[in-house]
Parts: sequence; structure tokens; C-alpha cells
Amino acid sequence: MDAERLREVMGRAMEIGREKIPLGSVASYIPELSKARKDALGLCIALPDGSVYKTGDTNIRFTIQSISKVISLCKALELHGPQEVFRHVGMEPSGEAFNSIVELDLQANRPFNPMINSGAIAVESTIIDYVSFEDMLEYARLLCNDSGITMNRQVYHSEMNSCDRNRAIAYLLKSKEIITTNVDNSIELYTKLCSLNVTAESLANFALLLAKGGVSPFTGERLLAEETVRTVLSIMLTCGMYDGSGRFAVEVGVPTKSGVGGGLMAAVHGRAGVGIYGPSLDKRGNCIAGCEMMKQLSRDLGLHMF
Ligand code: GLN
Repeated sequence: MDAERLREVMGRAMEIGREKIPLGSVASYIPELSKARKDALGLCIALPDGSVYKTGDTNIRFTIQSISKVISLCKALELHGPQEVFRHVGMEPSGEAFNSIVELDLQANRPFNPMINSGAIAVESTIIDYVSFEDMLEYARLLCNDSGITMNRQVYHSEMNSCDRNRAIAYLLKSKEIITTNVDNSIELYTKLCSLNVTAESLANFALLLAKGGVSPFTGERLLAEETVRTVLSIMLTCGMYDGSGRFAVEVGVPTKSGVGGGLMAAVHGRAGVGIYGPSLDKRGNCIAGCEMMKQLSRDLGLHMF
């Protein structure tokens, strides 16, 4: 990608994103998240040659939230392989909100996919006996090439005081014997991983690692197996934007994952990692500016995979 053109396209994407910000709102069901600056916006694009393009609020730290589900899925796949992991969780879009419980009770003997809360709690229960939170923190730092990642204690405690719904999901999973771990421990690990503080740049780095098939663009070292990456990206494409995943796949055509902290990361196969921060969310819990920016970037740079 030509540097000049990329900067120009990023500038236009930022303008388009900014226009959308007033139409969304900052997440408030986790009280601490409501303190985010609604008009913050940052865009970072990392390229395989090591160059990084940034504009706006790319150095603000914010909590990774649901994007941590990708990290947990990577770890579970690397530890157990897909056959074992997908005994505990499906690989189909749910068409329901990320925190939905109804389809889990009525229609399924396991959560629909690893990108919604029920699925991530199930995935994390497969790794909890093998790794500590500290191991996962190190793993997140490695995948994001960001040694500055720490846990945001305020957000963690705020969510722990308001996560009855996730507890209910975990108890339902336990009652169905999908998880056999202690519910408190599972919720603690899940919530701690959601509370990791990242930047748009850390997300761009992680996305680039996935876009490069699991080989670190920084060291050349293979960090993830090819099969892990293929599985993770397929799930991101079909389920990464919750009940907005289908439309997003049609309009953008890039495997992407969002989180209610305002983060969004997109892996452009072989070409780039994109990280966006914008805490104003649409009604599905996706970064409202980021969705529009991804549409624009996809059009301007020809990123759609089909
Ligand atoms: N920690 C959040 C929750 O469990 C993550 C959800 C999200 O980012 N969509 O509700």
C-alpha cells in the first residue's frame, strides 16, 4: 500500500467515523465503562513490512472486552485442538445478542459460538486447569506485541459487581454439564480477560499476526499454528460482530471482532492488521464509527475478501 494514499484514505475514514459518533452511546451496563470519552476515536493500520500508520486516539488504553474471546480461543485451540474445543462450543452464528441466554437454554446443548459470552465462558473453562490468569496476560502481551498490557482493576471490579447475567449463563452451562469447572473461577477468569487494557495499536498488531497466518511480523517466529488461525478467522468472519455479523461480512468482507470497550480489530488476509478505538457503540454493542470506517476502508483499499 502506498503511504501517501493510505494516509489520505485513513483521514477520510476518520471523518466518516466521526459523523457517526453522536448516533451511538457508550456502554453503561458495566458502570466503569460509561466514563469513556464518547468522542474518542483512533485508527491504526499495521503492515507486514513493520510500518504502522496511526491517526487520532491510538494511544488511549481501553479494555479489550469481547476481543479477549479471540485470545482465549487461540489458547484453547493451541492446547486442545479444534475437535476437543468444539465439543464444548459450536461454530454457528447465534443471531442473538452477545449476552443472550435464551437460545442456549431452548435450542442448544452447547453455546452457538466462541465469540458470544456463553461460548467464551465455555472455551475458557477448557483452559482454566492449564493456564493461570498471569499466563494469559503474558499470552495477550505476546499476541498483541504490547508489553504494556495490564488488567484494569476498576473495570474488573465494576464488571464483577454487575455480571449477574454472565453468572446465570455460567450456571446454566454447568447445569447442562457443558462446563464442569467452578462457576466463580470461570467468571473471574472471563472477567479479568475482558478487563485487559489495550490500545488501537495493540489490536492492529494482533490482527496483523492473524493476517500473517500466525507468524509474528516483528520476529518472524510462528506464534500460532496455521490451523488455529484459519479457524479463528473463520469464526470472526461469521460471528465476530454478534447479530450484525452477516451484514458486516457482506459490506466489509474482512474477519473482524469488536468489544464493548469500543475496540475493533480486523485482519486483512496477508495485507494488514487494523485496530480501531471508538467507545460510542451501536445497539448491538459494536463500535459505531468503526463499522462505518471499515466499510469505507474496505471500499477504498479493496479489502473485501471476495
Ligand atoms: N465483558 C463484557 C460482557 O461480558 C464483554 C461483552 C462485549 O464486549 N460484547 O458483557
